[in-house]
Amino acid sequence: MLCLCAGAQAQSPTAALLQELIQVDTSNPPGNEGKIDDLLAAKLRPLGFQIDVIPTPVAGKSVLFARLKGDGSARPVLIAAHGDVVGVERDKWTVDPFAGLMKDGFVYGRGAIDFKGGMAVFAQAVMKLARNKVPLKRDVIFLVESDEESATYNTSWLAQSHWDRMDCEFALNEGGWIMTRPNGQVRYVSVSTNDKSSIAILLTAKGTSTHSSMPLPDNAIFSLARALAKLGDYETKVELTPSTRQFFTTLGHTADGPMQQSFADLVDGKDPAKVAAADKAISEDPLLHAIMRTTIAPVIVNGGFRGNVIPSSAEANVNFRAVPGTTAEDLIAMVRKVINDPHVEVTSARSTAAGTKDSPTETALYRALVASANKLWPGVPVTPYLFQAGTDAGAWRSRGVPVYGIYPYPISNEDLRRMHGNDERVRITSLDQGTQLIYDTLLAVAAK
Ligand SMILES: [Zn+2]
Repeated sequence: MLCLCAGAQAQSPTAALLQELIQVDTSNPPGNEGKIDDLLAAKLRPLGFQIDVIPTPVAGKSVLFARLKGDGSARPVLIAAHGDVVGVERDKWTVDPFAGLMKDGFVYGRGAIDFKGGMAVFAQAVMKLARNKVPLKRDVIFLVESDEESATYNTSWLAQSHWDRMDCEFALNEGGWIMTRPNGQVRYVSVSTNDKSSIAILLTAKGTSTHSSMPLPDNAIFSLARALAKLGDYETKVELTPSTRQFFTTLGHTADGPMQQSFADLVDGKDPAKVAAADKAISEDPLLHAIMRTTIAPVIVNGGFRGNVIPSSAEANVNFRAVPGTTAEDLIAMVRKVINDPHVEVTSARSTAAGTKDSPTETALYRALVASANKLWPGVPVTPYLFQAGTDAGAWRSRGVPVYGIYPYPISNEDLRRMHGNDERVRITSLDQGTQLIYDTLLAVAAK
């Protein structure tokens, strides 16, 4: 086994780099992303990159800018990867999550998919540009961000004080997926052109506080429970944006059997009964269920403080992941209508991301991604995509800079479920294909 590992490592520089990156534990909190910055700076500086490590107010947490200079005749292209990862339930893993073990053609470890795998791919691609001494018309900026998974010092923070360093014509980040069929062949490539926004709504049920031995009809906890049950039974309507419409059309063209018709009915949207049936069939996949609508998830419930007191209030924090264009006010109006109970107040808590416009697909960077994907996987469709969660691309999109998201490695549905989960892994051959994809893309947009 050891021999095999060494062999695979020698053959794939991207896998070898990923192994090193995984071995630096950047679970956030606290993150300690500075260690990743040091590791990468030591590799990039000798290749001619201009290195800037920006400290944050938190010790050990920093941001790395590595710039490969062009002649300045075009504006920079930026590629971004976050240095932090989510924590692990170590006892649920069958391998050491911070060893970067190579086994059976995969690299295992926290961040293999999200997003140290992408960081390794992006870093290899820019290092290859430098090693090949490709003459560049624009700067290529490789950014390693902090605090994407949690806390304060993320790209929004960075943009407030260091926008001049981040400013670019367009950027690449995490986002869409290169999905494979069960036989391992690539089925489609999705490139995210927007993220859903995260909107928190607070439900506060009010009632009379009194002794629990003599209950009144206006018990706040019962009111809250009824409100949550109504929301739980409520299904939001299907809302396709231009990018999700194209995405579901692509799924239809690449689906097998009856699902082809379901996707066609969903996109067609004319017959409510057919849409409802298609919604039901497609929603078997929770990811697709989420992409076609605003989702509702209660995440925190609070109420009561003693075993013999009926409290005067109880509250629930409900997290909505909204289709672009939806505002907190829209959601408050919808929730009030569904709950229909004057004892329950519905207010806006906190929005973690403002809605932004879809990044356009008529740019040189998007076209280069499509051309590079077509070269690697002939005949495989490339489609824009609405990312079901949030990334920190909003710092650019909200300033009008197009950002395209991709997890740059072919991946199966089964492996995708390991992201933020246990035994996270990425296929070594996928890392190599991703490196080619990103190298070709950068060559197309940045070479003279
Ligand atoms: Zn991520």
